[in-house]
Amino acid sequence: MKNINTAMSDRRIFTPGPVQMSPEILAMGAEQVPYFRNADFSAVLKECEARLLELAGAPLGSRVLFLAGSGSLAMESVVVNLLSAETPCAVVNGGSFGQRFVDICLLHRVLVQELVVDRDPLTDWGALSVDGKIQAMLINGHETSVGHLYDLVSTGRFCRQKQCLHVVDAISLFVTDALDMQKQFIDVLLLSSHKGLALPPGLAMVVLSPAALNQIVKQPNSFYLDFNHYLEDGLRGQTPFTPTVSIILQLRARLEQLQQEGMASAIAHAQDLALHFRDGIRALPLKPYSPCMPNAMTAIQVTSDVPAHQVVDALERRHGCVVAPNGGALRELVFRVGHMGNLVHADIDRLLLGLQDVLN
Ligand SMILES: *Cc1c(COP(=O)(O)O)cnc(C)c1O
Repeated sequence: MKNINTAMSDRRIFTPGPVQMSPEILAMGAEQVPYFRNADFSAVLKECEARLLELAGAPLGSRVLFLAGSGSLAMESVVVNLLSAETPCAVVNGGSFGQRFVDICLLHRVLVQELVVDRDPLTDWGALSVDGKIQAMLINGHETSVGHLYDLVSTGRFCRQKQCLHVVDAISLFVTDALDMQKQFIDVLLLSSHKGLALPPGLAMVVLSPAALNQIVKQPNSFYLDFNHYLEDGLRGQTPFTPTVSIILQLRARLEQLQQEGMASAIAHAQDLALHFRDGIRALPLKPYSPCMPNAMTAIQVTSDVPAHQVVDALERRHGCVVAPNGGALRELVFRVGHMGNLVHADIDRLLLGLQDVLN
């Protein structure tokens, strides 16, 4: 343990989760975990809910559920609690996170109309071919496996026209990119702690609009994930089972800081980092993989003959910069650099110098 931490202290982490955390949040992680079945903790959880609803632009009457698990748990929880086996749902599949939605639906025997796309922003929603009635569209607002951003206003309009739920996994969008449940017609929003929120992994959040609240099934096929219990206990600031107490305390601090700073300024900071980085790689044998990139991350294609995974290894070994490799067919070609978390220009400059050296 000690070795890992010592080695981490002079490194910079540029992965799409976990991300570089602030000293204040890190210090909170060293404190004793308090008991939580009391009024003090209830007040914290209720404050988190209210702040999240405001930051997400949630419509009046929306609720937030706090689940102990990573973002994929939020994905599965929605399929279990909101979708029925009878009516198909549409899944936008533009990479491994889209595929995850497909796999979860199939496991739970929910029929899927798969919309396979390759770096298409879906701005022209008329081109989406969905037959007949669907109960929901599931989409990863930012498909993190390829660094691609969808046009959520457009897919939201499509869902309005289809009269189906617009379920948006905004796990790698929140805090770095524009997100507003009302402007983007989002009924269900999925979030997690260790991407843009820059907290430790382990807390997943689901924001439900009144329309989504109306569609929760009475007896979902899961004990731990039954939304009905979370909603009822949430009214008094509690969860049915032990929550991630420490991360929720860190979340409260982070949300307060975000509201003081203003979400627009947090997004502008991420955009500034992303542009600084993308500007810096112009002179290198690298190019962005998607034409529609979020501020959160850049997926980069190597245009020289150095394999991408070798760039990733050398960056960490020689320069202490941790970036994320791609798997599967893109392993040799693409790697990913996150712009989420507590980073400044000097961190990007260090990474750019490292890339220059590694690609030489
Ligand atoms: C990170 C991420 C998730 C959650 O992945 P976990 O491994 O469960 O944390 C889900 N969707 C997207 C788009 C993500 O980037």
